[in-house]
Amino acid sequence: MQAVPSEFLAIDRKERANRPFFDLDLRPPEVRTCDFEDVVIEFDPERAMVEASRCIHCPDPAPCMTACPTSNDIPSAMWLIEQGRFAEAAGIYHKTSSLPEVCGRVCPHEALCQGSCVLNKHQQPVLCGELEAFAVDYERRTQGYIIPVGTPIGKKVAIIGAGPAGLGCADILIQKGYDVTIFESKPAPGGLLVYGIPNFKLPKDVWQEKWEEFENAGVKFVPNTYIGKDKTIDGLFEEGFEAVFIGVGSEIDAKMEDTPGTDLPGVYEATDFLIRGNVEAEQLPENMRKPLEIGKRIVVIGGGDTASDCLRTALRLGAEDVTCLYRRTEKEMPGGKKDRQMAREEGAKYRFLTQPVKFIPGADGKLAAVECIEMKLGEPDAKGRRKPVPVENSNFSVAADTAVLALGYWPDPIISKTTPDLETHDWGLVTVKNKTTGQTSREGVFSGGDCVTGPDLVVTAMVAGRKAGDAIDEYLRNVIPT
Ligand SMILES: Cc1cc2nc3c(=O)[nH]c(=O)nc-3n(C[C@H](O)[C@H](O)[C@H](O)COP(=O)(O)OP(=O)(O)OC[C@H]3O[C@@H](n4cnc5c(N)ncnc54)[C@H](O)[C@@H]3O)c2cc1C
Repeated sequence: MQAVPSEFLAIDRKERANRPFFDLDLRPPEVRTCDFEDVVIEFDPERAMVEASRCIHCPDPAPCMTACPTSNDIPSAMWLIEQGRFAEAAGIYHKTSSLPEVCGRVCPHEALCQGSCVLNKHQQPVLCGELEAFAVDYERRTQGYIIPVGTPIGKKVAIIGAGPAGLGCADILIQKGYDVTIFESKPAPGGLLVYGIPNFKLPKDVWQEKWEEFENAGVKFVPNTYIGKDKTIDGLFEEGFEAVFIGVGSEIDAKMEDTPGTDLPGVYEATDFLIRGNVEAEQLPENMRKPLEIGKRIVVIGGGDTASDCLRTALRLGAEDVTCLYRRTEKEMPGGKKDRQMAREEGAKYRFLTQPVKFIPGADGKLAAVECIEMKLGEPDAKGRRKPVPVENSNFSVAADTAVLALGYWPDPIISKTTPDLETHDWGLVTVKNKTTGQTSREGVFSGGDCVTGPDLVVTAMVAGRKAGDAIDEYLRNVIPT
C-alpha cells in the first residue's frame, strides 16, 4: 500500500502528464569509453525534484509499484523527492529493498517500473530508477544509513554466498536479531555485483559503501571459504548454525564443447574476461590475477546482457574493432535494449545469424580468426523462439585476436553433491518446495536467487533472499523455539 494515498494529493494529473521530459544525462561515448567510470551523470537535487514532479500519482496500487519485484512504494518516494525530502524518500526504499542504490542503477527499469508507467502512453516514463539511486546516495552523503539491528535472540544462521540473494537474507535476519555469518568462496563480498557487473554500470565504491552498512550492523563475513570443499552444510549445523540459506548463484560459464579451438590463447570465458577486466587485483582470487592479454580485434559470442557488458569492457580495454556474433536476429536477443544501445553508441558492431564453428590459430599459436557459418531462422522451439538453422556451405572467416564466450551460465553442482537429500533439478538448480519461503528438501535449509531460478536479476535474487529471511525467522521461532 502507498504511504501517501493518491486521493489525498491535490494534483492535476493532466497538467502533470504534460510537464516536459528531460532525458538522463550520459557522458558522451567517446569520453566514457576512456575509463570505467559510471556512464550516467547523477541528478542534482533540483533536477531530481523536477523529474519526480512528473509522477501523476496513479490510484493505489500504482502500476510501477506492481511491476517492481520488491514492491517499492515508488509513488510515495516520488512525492517526497518532489518536495526535496530526499532522505525520507530513501527511507521508503529501505522498507522494501536491501539494495536500493544498486537496483536504482542496474535494474532493467524499462521492463519493470518505468516500463509500466502510464506516461508511456503519450510521453516518456518518470525516471524512477535513477531517482531511487539519487535519493539513497543523497541520504548516504548527508546523514548515512544504519541498518536497524534487532535485539539479539541468540540464534545463529549461516548464509552461503554474498551476492544479492545472500545479502537480502542477511538484511532481514540481522534486523530480527539473528547472529548472521556469510560464507563466501571469493575474497570479497558482493557476488556478481563485484565479480560480474562492470564498474561503468555499478561503480565499485557504491557497492563498498553499501557493504559497510552490513558490516556495521554486525553481519560476519568469512571469505575464501568454498562450501562443499572447505566446509559442508552438515558441518555448519554441527558448528551450531540452526538454519542455512543457500545463495550461491549460477556462475559456471556455459561452454562451446563441440567447437574446436576454444582452448587457444586469446579465447576467454565471459566471467574470466569481465572479472579480470574490471576488478582490482587484490580482490581477485589468486588464480585470476594474471592481467588479460587482449588484442585489437575482439569478437564476443552471445546475445544476453553479459555479451553487452563484454563488448563495452573490450572497448574500454582499448580494443579497436569489437563485434558481437549472435546466431539469431536482434529480435530474439535476450539482453536488454538499453545496454545494447549504449554498446552501439560506444562503437560495438553486431553480426546476426552467425554461428562460430571453429577458432583458428595463427603462426604464433594464438587465436587469429573465427570460422563461422551463416544461420537462418527455423521453426519455433518449446519457448516459442525460432531456432537457428545452419545454411549449408556458407562458412566464412572473421579475423580476431581475442574471442569472449558469453553463452550463459550453469549452476555449480558442488553443494548438491555434498549435501545429502538436497533435491536439485535441471542441471543442478536447487529445488524449493515453496517458492515464497525458499524451503528446500532439507529441514532448516532454505535457498533463493540464481541458484534456484537460473540466471535472472539482482532484484529478483534480493527479493528471494528477503523472503527466505522471513521464512527462516518463522521456522526458528515456531519450529525450533528457544
Ligand atoms: C556479467 C553480468 C551482468 C549482469 N548485469 C545485470 C544487470 O545489469 N542488472 C541485473 O539486475 N542483473 C544483472 N546480472 C544478473 C545478476 O547479477 C544476478 O542475477 C544476481 O547477482 C544473482 O544474485 P545471487 O545472489 O543469486 O548470485 P550471485 O550474485 O552469483 O552470488 C552468489 C555468490 O555465492 C558465492 N558462491 C558460489 N558458490 C559458493 C560456495 N560453494 N561456497 C561459498 N560461496 C559460494 C559466489 O562466489 C557469489 O559471491 C548480471 C549478471 C552477469 C553475469
